[in-house]
Amino acid sequence: MMIDTHVHLYDQAYDQDRDQVVVRAQEAGVARCILPAIDKNSYPAMEACLQAYPHFCYKAIGVHPGSIDKNYKTELDFAFSKKKDAVAVGEIGLDFYRSQEFKKEQITVLEEQLEWAKEWDLPVIIHSRSSFPELLDTFKRCRFPNMRGILHAWSAGVEVFQEANKYGTFYMGIGGVLTFKNARLAHVVEKTPLSDIVLETDAPWLAPDPYRGKRNESAYLVHIVKKMAAIKEISLHEIVSVTTQNALSLLFNKET
Ligand SMILES: [Zn+2]
Repeated sequence: MMIDTHVHLYDQAYDQDRDQVVVRAQEAGVARCILPAIDKNSYPAMEACLQAYPHFCYKAIGVHPGSIDKNYKTELDFAFSKKKDAVAVGEIGLDFYRSQEFKKEQITVLEEQLEWAKEWDLPVIIHSRSSFPELLDTFKRCRFPNMRGILHAWSAGVEVFQEANKYGTFYMGIGGVLTFKNARLAHVVEKTPLSDIVLETDAPWLAPDPYRGKRNESAYLVHIVKKMAAIKEISLHEIVSVTTQNALSLLFNKET
């Protein structure tokens, strides 16, 4: 069985055929999905998914850096109120690629949410784009003993990953980008032990080859697993079993 550690199944891209998308995922061997929040607009549809697919969909709560502006307090308060049953705080982080306008606010909101993770003893799901120096800096300032999580849609090198792991226990979230031609990410994955990797789709975005550019879905995890097995020259079975174990121990260790 596989775990899709990052899928926006509540996105309107699935409004016409969400049940079939879930069936295809389950048939492909996906046993659980983590649904990361974006902002307060994402919660009604996310909560509908949690109700419709219990024991398949699990939620993360938080404010995505792309949704942060001067009025970030409203978003923070709303996300905070949704804490019940969350398995992670996410997706949270820094994104200076789209805009640098609210850089200071993004850092403040990340600090606050790392504080929640500490208080609630939950892992974090981190989104970081064009912001690794500031991210590492924030980790350094806010580190706490059991800080852990996923560095989602990993795009940087091995060195930055190792640097982040000085401040906590972080897994590399690997998805469809791995299957793209000439992906620099292939070299990063080759050099990274499987014990540091979890699988994700980030669906409906970032579909793997041969679906690049189309709508993504959790069933396509299989294509990412195949590519990873080829890069690492190990069996599909081993890729699945180790990455699933990583995801279970990070996100579901409180169940046992
Ligand atoms: Zn996402």
